[in-house]
Amino acid sequence: MIAKAILFLVTAAWALTVSYPYVLLAMACGLAHKPAWQGTNLTAEWRPWFAKIWHYSTTIGRGIIFHPLSNRGKDTTLDTRIEFHEDTHVVQLECLMTLSLVLGGVVAAVTGDLVLGFWIHWSGGAWQLPNFLCAVLRHGPEPFNADEPRSWIARVMESAYRNSEHERSAYAQTDMIGHLMGKPVSWIVLHEMRRAAENKQHREWLAHAP
Ligand SMILES: [Zn+2]
Repeated sequence: MIAKAILFLVTAAWALTVSYPYVLLAMACGLAHKPAWQGTNLTAEWRPWFAKIWHYSTTIGRGIIFHPLSNRGKDTTLDTRIEFHEDTHVVQLECLMTLSLVLGGVVAAVTGDLVLGFWIHWSGGAWQLPNFLCAVLRHGPEPFNADEPRSWIARVMESAYRNSEHERSAYAQTDMIGHLMGKPVSWIVLHEMRRAAENKQHREWLAHAP
């Protein structure tokens, strides 16, 4: 509980000025509806007309707007996977803003400039932006597909989004990669099971070690 409160406070500067306004503004502009709190994350859902143009669930800090296909609120595999995926982005924000708090704190302490220190901390919410640029430099635009012809700029944007390291991490952790006892399973679930099995093996070895 205390740890959760600390993690929220670390991200509060970004959540209050960017994340929550992002969701509220999207609703005010008629792009999103169905607001709901998930802990300290403000969530909503793209309206169907906008979801036809923008195919993604999109998270900005603690503001998450789901694609209608994610079936938020129903206990389906897709629902769970997309919620875990978007939650991964919140976790990434917590890490970045902890770093930016340390950096801003050091700058404020050294220079005595609290305002500069605050803005350095605040900027931590945007520290994933360089990932988009690096993704395009590494991978170039998405390949041209004659079945679905798209402009060069659309293919660059898609590549920036899909190939960024924070997206790849979220996909890798939460995408379903196989089946276990008839149920779809993600890497993170397999990872936790493997760790639990290894810990058990280690405890048993310790109990019988000479
Ligand atoms: Zn994502």
